[in-house]
Amino acid sequence: MALYDAIVIGSGPAGLTAAIYTTRANLKTLVVAGQVAGGQLMITSDVENYPGFPNGILGPELMELWRKQAERFHADFIDDNATRVDLKHNPLKVWVNDDLYESRTVIIASGANAKWLGLPNEDRLKGKGVSACAVCDAMFFKGRDVASVGGGDTAMEESLYLAKFCKSVTIIHRRNEFRASKIMQDRVFKTPNIKVIWDHTVEEVLGEKKVEGIRVKNVKTGATQNLKVQGLFIAIGHTPATELFRGQLELNPNGYVLPRSTEEFRMATNLPGVFVAGDVHDHRYRQAVTAAGYGCMAALDAERWLQKLA
Ligand code: NAP
Repeated sequence: MALYDAIVIGSGPAGLTAAIYTTRANLKTLVVAGQVAGGQLMITSDVENYPGFPNGILGPELMELWRKQAERFHADFIDDNATRVDLKHNPLKVWVNDDLYESRTVIIASGANAKWLGLPNEDRLKGKGVSACAVCDAMFFKGRDVASVGGGDTAMEESLYLAKFCKSVTIIHRRNEFRASKIMQDRVFKTPNIKVIWDHTVEEVLGEKKVEGIRVKNVKTGATQNLKVQGLFIAIGHTPATELFRGQLELNPNGYVLPRSTEEFRMATNLPGVFVAGDVHDHRYRQAVTAAGYGCMAALDAERWLQKLA
């Protein structure tokens, strides 16, 4: 079995950028791309904030170009999920079902997934009014009425961002208090075009081709009402894809990989030769462009790490 110089786990902006950099540095690279390759941009429609595309680009189209760029420099790809890893012993080991792949470095770029409500119409109307990223999509709702769901810091941040563009933002929260930090709550309460509907859940997203409204239910009385909104922003948190690494990589209490940055290796982890990039560790910025930047940094770290070993 050939020993890889770098195995990249994940094929979103972080993973593919890492692969472009490792392959261009002549490192023999394998990308374990996942069964649903391409990451979160695959479920995004127009991307208008990725530099270099003045007219915007569709998320899946951007990821296709990105992948072609990585393939051009001869990264190997497996379009399946990594199923087991041993990152504690060198060579580092990654299994995809029964197949074992070994490498001198591993770059973890497995990303994070937005949590969704799981409503029948929610999935169908994703990118047609249903979103989990205000920074990505707020522009499309200029002057419109939108709703957001959640009571944590993400919901506050998303709602404040939306309020800059939208005519009104209605936060639907299932309890009668937020869990978000006081400062974020205060900002929300002081914003005139944000209102809160307490003790309500979203029961259904209304609309055929695009979001036209939502049906909400009072959890105390069971009464339902329809709200006319053109956008629904789900902000109930993200789940980092780190189950596979539990017990090996140091994770924070929310399950994100904890980088162990040193002056020399910014994207290092607690394990030698293992680097991290993108939303799997970054729960703050969560942008394609920042993930790409982290992917580049992790790849340069891996390259320098291997140079030091030589
Ligand atoms: P979070 O704190 O877990 O909050 C999730 C919110 O969504 C909660 O209010 C929860 O309601 C609600 N929720 C969860 N599942 C729901 C469902 N199925 N239906 C309706 N509502 C649901 O997640 P987060 O806001 O993403 O924050 C995660 C971490 O990142 C936190 O530590 C946060 O402080 C941090 N963060 C910080 C910043 C910042 O500092 N700028 C920004 C974003 C996030 P309940 O309250 O009833 O459980």
